[in-house]
Amino acid sequence: MVPMANFSVEDARATQVTPGFQLADIDPAATPNFSDSKKKLLHEFTEIDDELTDLQEMLYANARAGLPHTPRILLVLQGMDTSGKGGVIRHVMGTLDPQGVDLAAFGVPTEQERQHDFLWRIKKALPRAGRIGVFDRSHYEDVLVHRVHGLSPLPVIEQRYGQIVEFEQELVDSGTTIIKVMLHISPEFQAENLRERLERKDKYWKYNPGDIDERLHWEEYQQAYQIALERTSTASAPWYCVPSDNKPYARMVVKYLLLGALRDLQLQWPPADFDPAVELARLEASQQQLQQRLTQQQ
Ligand code: ATP
Repeated sequence: MVPMANFSVEDARATQVTPGFQLADIDPAATPNFSDSKKKLLHEFTEIDDELTDLQEMLYANARAGLPHTPRILLVLQGMDTSGKGGVIRHVMGTLDPQGVDLAAFGVPTEQERQHDFLWRIKKALPRAGRIGVFDRSHYEDVLVHRVHGLSPLPVIEQRYGQIVEFEQELVDSGTTIIKVMLHISPEFQAENLRERLERKDKYWKYNPGDIDERLHWEEYQQAYQIALERTSTASAPWYCVPSDNKPYARMVVKYLLLGALRDLQLQWPPADFDPAVELARLEASQQQLQQRLTQQQ
């Protein structure tokens, strides 16, 4: 028997970062609002696929039909190494039509990117109208890794929080829904993941020796995340801190957050810019003509 749905968009949104948020209080191994078996979790994960794909198609269709002010969605993914950003992209975005997805990953800035303001490369990668954009890392690296390693002077980093809030507000005002997700893992879980990368041939490609050096800055990263999340989680562009030691759970939460954003857009299918009855009659007539011609040729 198919289990009943018992997770919801509201449950997913309960992971929202609100005033008073303390990252240290969030247990990365917890599965808030979900206590059922793994089987049910997997069911929850696929239960909403049809609705999600329909809504995404509707969003894309609006842009393709050239409707003015077609919205866009931007999903920002952040997390420590091995936190599962790639898995979210594969499993959550994998259900969607790739035509409607704009994916961008942000690594160490190139020489050219370094010549510009930190938002320059971000602005170039924003989703097009009617698309769901996904950022695998983002402008937040400029207040995270930069803070941990002193890559920019502190006063410059301090200024960036305000610049980010302003930038995101402009995006929201011009029709972008922003969902920011921190995939929150424990150091034990990271060690497990890194161990797996070292013990399995099919995972070597994911291993980066530098991850061990980064891992030793754990507390500083947590502090940098605490500051970033508390200063930039706004009503317009909220952060969600998603416990992610349980990968299927984290993926499910992100999927429901996306579903909530799509539902909130209250989309409609674009109207026809032709007369469907007339076109249907033309189609039938063309079929008759073709049939006649093909029979004569036989
Ligand atoms: P990931 O670790 O995200 O799976 P990866 O290991 O393939 O990806 P890249 O995507 O090439 O690595 O780069 C990620 C690295 O780039 C991270 O260490 C991140 O901190 C760093 N990075 C991203 N943006 C910046 C930035 N603005 N300034 C400095 N370093 C950055």
